[in-house]
Amino acid sequence: MTRIGFGYDAHRFAAGRKLMLGGVEIPHTHGLLGHSDADVLLHAVCDALLGAAALGDIGRHFPDTDPRYKGISSLTLLSHVGRLVQANGYTIGNIDSTIVMEHPKVNPHVEAMRRAIGEALTIPPEVISIKATTNEGMGFVGTGEGAVAYAVALLHTI
Ligand code: MG
Repeated sequence: MTRIGFGYDAHRFAAGRKLMLGGVEIPHTHGLLGHSDADVLLHAVCDALLGAAALGDIGRHFPDTDPRYKGISSLTLLSHVGRLVQANGYTIGNIDSTIVMEHPKVNPHVEAMRRAIGEALTIPPEVISIKATTNEGMGFVGTGEGAVAYAVALLHTI
């Protein structure tokens, strides 16, 4: 059996934070604000995987009120989600995702992100797709106030 899952996340930009995207640190004037490292792409991927397995959402598994998750690398959260999905009898078919942000350019870092996500989930980078676009200056993404990510994932029963 094959199951599909969808994930969405948004984070606000803030000064004095590292910009972590897809498990990779990207040089920029601002980072994303959040309880963890605020990796918006990895959070969307986590929710897509959890959604496909009907295991709730990232907020349920890693509450932002829990001090254990303060400043945590989202790659650690993603690894945990990968193991959870596997423990529930699924293998990951493929993941597709889109990052929406105005700055900085994401495309030069996509291959490193695919490798990082592949390592965290122990799947080959060939089954992980990461796309990037801007919001053409419109809305909160367009003004640079924040960034958004969407992801879908397919799971197969073992
Ligand atoms: Mg988030």
